[in-house]
Amino acid sequence: MLEIRNLHVQIEDKKILNGLSLTVNDGEVAAIMGPNGSGKSTLSYVIAGKEDYEVLDGEILLDGQNLLEMEPDARAAAGVFLAFQYPLEIPGVATMTFLKAALNAQRKARGEGELSTPEFMKKVRAGAERLHIPQDMLKRALNVGFSGGEKKRMEILQMALLEPRFCILDETDSGLDIDALKIAADGVNALRDPKRSFLVITHYQRLLNYIVPDTVHVMANGRVVKSGGKELALELEANGYADYRSQAA
Ligand code: ADP
Ligand code: MG
Ligand code: MG
Repeated sequence: MLEIRNLHVQIEDKKILNGLSLTVNDGEVAAIMGPNGSGKSTLSYVIAGKEDYEVLDGEILLDGQNLLEMEPDARAAAGVFLAFQYPLEIPGVATMTFLKAALNAQRKARGEGELSTPEFMKKVRAGAERLHIPQDMLKRALNVGFSGGEKKRMEILQMALLEPRFCILDETDSGLDIDALKIAADGVNALRDPKRSFLVITHYQRLLNYIVPDTVHVMANGRVVKSGGKELALELEANGYADYRSQAA
């Protein structure tokens, strides 16, 4: 379970999160919606441990461990996975090589030994098959020349290999056509598990037609201002964020 209590965060003297509280239970898919600039991406970066953000107050507990006292790699080892809004392109590094390095770095941080090449190949092939990723794509340089949908599938393959405890997807729908969106959603849905939770951050309701959340939370001015079930997303789609903005101001 992830529990965030009264989180206050600033960057360069600018206050961005203002007493945010949020609980995500085991196996839960929680959606975060909210207007541009409400602090959604900041929240995902602070959970993952990106530097530059100054936490002024509050706690983030994952299974009772205080994430704020842990380095980013220790958080990843504890099972936090942040999917990037803009996937990195790494010319000269085969996707397969990148995935192996990522997996072994995480195993090391968890105190586990490196996987042998055959063990790794078996794992990555099974994952790629499940996500309909052609084997030859794994030999190409990571994300270089990949379409938006291909990048997204690769990110989900990475997520599947790392077997995270808590997955954060920030604006997964930006720049994806409807087919790519469905592929990404199918990948996420395949990873739903009673021991795994998701925070799905999205500005639009559209993604939530495919990744159906258990709970929806509305952020405005750096706080959660309303929580509800999946029907809350439909209400937001119909009425917009204006009410919440003025309420939070
Ligand atoms: P969202 O993802 O909801 O659109 P963000 O978390 O990206 O919101 O941004 C929240 C607010 O913080 C915005 O007003 C943004 O301009 C500001 N902000 C984000 N990152 C920085 C930064 N590195 N320096 C200064 N202001 C920032
Ligand atoms: Mg934004
Ligand atoms: Mg954002």
